[in-house]
Amino acid sequence: MVFGKSKDKGVSRKEHLAFKSASILQVRVLTAFLFVVFSCCSLPVFAGERLKVVASIFPVAEMARAVGGDRVDVRQLIPPGSDPHSWEPKISDMVWLEKKADLIILIGAGLEPWAEEVVGQVKDVRSKMLELAKVSDDLLKADKDQQKGHGHGHDDHASGHNDPHIWLDFKWDMAATLRIARAMTALDPGGASFYEKNAQNYIEALKKLDISYQKALSSCPRKTFVVAGHAAFGYLARAYGLRQVALYGLSPDASPGPRKMAEVTELVEKEGAAKAVFFDDTVTGSLAKTLSRETGARTFVMTPGESLKRSDISKGTTFIGLMYRNLDALSDGLGCKTPSRGPAE
Ligand SMILES: [Zn+2]
Repeated sequence: MVFGKSKDKGVSRKEHLAFKSASILQVRVLTAFLFVVFSCCSLPVFAGERLKVVASIFPVAEMARAVGGDRVDVRQLIPPGSDPHSWEPKISDMVWLEKKADLIILIGAGLEPWAEEVVGQVKDVRSKMLELAKVSDDLLKADKDQQKGHGHGHDDHASGHNDPHIWLDFKWDMAATLRIARAMTALDPGGASFYEKNAQNYIEALKKLDISYQKALSSCPRKTFVVAGHAAFGYLARAYGLRQVALYGLSPDASPGPRKMAEVTELVEKEGAAKAVFFDDTVTGSLAKTLSRETGARTFVMTPGESLKRSDISKGTTFIGLMYRNLDALSDGLGCKTPSRGPAE
């Protein structure tokens, strides 16, 4: 029994939902089974043994590796190239979470919907879970207040829903890194100063990244960027005084209708000579190509890093390196004056 990806764009929304509820039912049956079989077996951590850490997506795995160093083994749960918004675990993943993982780090805020359905019902798994979005409740609240206060309510903004793409706010990443260090220390107190030092080093790299963004994006003649994909960059846009307009909503599961395409095409056309469209090459570039053909806009790759391909990871791409690449694209596409280049990967 495999709870496969449901990324097939040829499947109708209705069929997709029917499939999804069938999957959830299967998952509930599986959950009950796993609860009976494994609820006894949360493993203790012995001195000298590496912590087994599961991280849901690539940016979280990087934070966990940066903090844990050689005292931890980090496994990225959602495979490279998969869409975390629609991915579901296989039985082998569930068994690993139940029996082997010491710490399970998730973004939360709805990015991993399976976690509520499956992991939330199995007591021993819940106790190992670190939902990073929970450390950012204030940020999420501030985000909602900001939307209310500024009258944001269009579908190119978060529309009152919690936007799970929080790792694209680098200040939030700093807080999350500290939280990961604290969770590792709780399981392995002997590594306290090691985890703390590593966390501070990673936070320093995030601070440099944040400063590069501030400098490069403060001088741009255009402040609106068009994303031919899902609206993953809301936090990043708000952090640097930009505005995101995306063809999709907060997840890539519904294609934009003709009216949305027409609206966005018109907006790109208004931008004048240096028109730009951004897209995530780990998902698809076809809508970006359509927009580019119709408007003459240049296309730029900008990826949130949640679906990074295995080939990129094996080339040594890092989350921070990826964010510098995004900054190059933004800076070029928005006509910013200050060079954006950060440290080479
Ligand atoms: Zn996303």
